[in-house]
Amino acid sequence: MARYTGAVCRLCRREGQKLFLKGDRCYTGKCAVDRRPTPPGEHGNARSRKASEYGLQLREKQKARRYYGVLERQFANYFEMATKQKGMTGENLLSILETRLDNVIYRLGFAMSRAEARQLVRHTHFAVDGKKVNIPSYLVKPGQTISVVEKSRSMEKLKSSLEANGSRVPPKWLDFDRNNLEAKVLSLPTREDIDLPIEEHLIVELYSK
Ligand code: SF4
Repeated sequence: MARYTGAVCRLCRREGQKLFLKGDRCYTGKCAVDRRPTPPGEHGNARSRKASEYGLQLREKQKARRYYGVLERQFANYFEMATKQKGMTGENLLSILETRLDNVIYRLGFAMSRAEARQLVRHTHFAVDGKKVNIPSYLVKPGQTISVVEKSRSMEKLKSSLEANGSRVPPKWLDFDRNNLEAKVLSLPTREDIDLPIEEHLIVELYSK
């Protein structure tokens, strides 16, 4: 499955804000956005022109894509799905992205970043309704249960991430049973459940051109 393999800190510098793509490092003084808050590249310091309307819409879409680690084609597919659902397309889009299994694993605190969560899913450490799932883009649905598979229950990496993320409160659309290492999907996430600073209306405007 295709994924971005370049330097992830460049993506944050390009968006001019922290996207928290590297786990622990993002919370330390080593964060590239804190150290060099200019766009990457030779002319990074010189790029201070006011962005056009299209530029703002494009950047918002790129930011959302990068938060969730989704490539262009797949993001466009999600948008298409969102337009076919009832309600606001922008909110539907974020709700779909949020229900990706890799994001759910990250939200529950099993991983320090979405990239790490993706890798854990690929390595078949999780099951949905008792069946192993190794597809990071799998979209969970209300009523389903996500659990750690038997062989991975004592895995040090999962334990240490859960401990490090102990203060992170799982979103209210997920009912997390920490002791049994499983979570039930109570509902689809609403916009209020998604704490990312994304202006989804700009993405809708971009795709509506
Ligand atoms: Fe982004 Fe994290 Fe790199 Fe900082 S350390 S630039 S937040 S990926």
